[in-house]
Amino acid sequence: MKFALCRTVEIVVLAVLLEMLSLHAASDRGQPAKKVSASQATEIKVTLLGTGTPEPRPDRFGPSTLVEAGGERLVFDCGRGCTTRLWQLRLPLGSVKLFLTHLHSDHTVGIPDLWLTGWLTQPYGTRKEKFHVWGPLGTAEMMAKMEAAYAEDVRIRREFNPSLTAEQVGVDAHDIGEGIVYENAGVRVTAFKVRHANVKEAFGYRVDHQGHSVIISGDMAPNDNFRKHAANADVIIHEVGAANPDLLASSPRLQRLLLEHHSSPEDVGRDFAAVKPKLGVLTHYTVLQSEGYPEVALLEIVARVRKEYSGPLEAGQDLTAIIIGDHVTVRRATSE
Ligand SMILES: [Zn+2]
Ligand SMILES: [Zn+2]
Repeated sequence: MKFALCRTVEIVVLAVLLEMLSLHAASDRGQPAKKVSASQATEIKVTLLGTGTPEPRPDRFGPSTLVEAGGERLVFDCGRGCTTRLWQLRLPLGSVKLFLTHLHSDHTVGIPDLWLTGWLTQPYGTRKEKFHVWGPLGTAEMMAKMEAAYAEDVRIRREFNPSLTAEQVGVDAHDIGEGIVYENAGVRVTAFKVRHANVKEAFGYRVDHQGHSVIISGDMAPNDNFRKHAANADVIIHEVGAANPDLLASSPRLQRLLLEHHSSPEDVGRDFAAVKPKLGVLTHYTVLQSEGYPEVALLEIVARVRKEYSGPLEAGQDLTAIIIGDHVTVRRATSE
């Protein structure tokens, strides 16, 4: 009972915080639109929509990163809660395009929500054209099967509202290879292969815009191709995984899971030290735990990155925003 009460208070506090954040985001985007300066027009804005993993925790939604540049809104991965975060920022779901790093479920479970809620006619939806998705081999097939799975919902809603067109409720999905996968309004998206255990195709992405750039590692163990494509990037958004050494010693399976799928804090530090970005950002915290082995604290993860890297570093949280312009600045959600 005591526990339930604590949880209730916690949830209320969280709700108030979220509302405050939502109001901030709304006022940022309120009317009339702010005048955009010449340097702002070349900026890239990155917002971490979710910094979590499959673990269904309320403080870290599933992996998803929003990149805004040149009027484009590009979402990389669509984990749990991606749609909630977008509308928390007052960005209509229908205004974004989606890129997938790989097809692990924690990166894709939010897709039906983003697609189907995105074409509703309420302000949070408003999609007027097909839902555009790019991803590794299997993406087009997954999206086709998703369309089949939700065919009845689409039929019911279109029957009730005949003004909904086949175009706006449809999906335009592409399987990609390494190289430039999207280019518009001076924004270029390049996919590159990364190593992620037995995943056949896992990509990282690089977004370039007006001389500025950001790398999204996706999920990966250390690999040379990442370093090659991350060279000279302004900002790197990097996954990280860690567990109590005693837990790893007791479980070869978990040891392999971290070693082959993910980058340890020291690995991340070595990547940052090699590439020397203007800012290195941590996300997708795979913090394994088990009975008697609590998860590794964020401070410890940062301390372990710091063993290998002394440059600019940000431990990303949900809704942390990074503005890449003449300078790189960070807006933390909790400090707004
Ligand atoms: Zn993942
Ligand atoms: Zn994965």
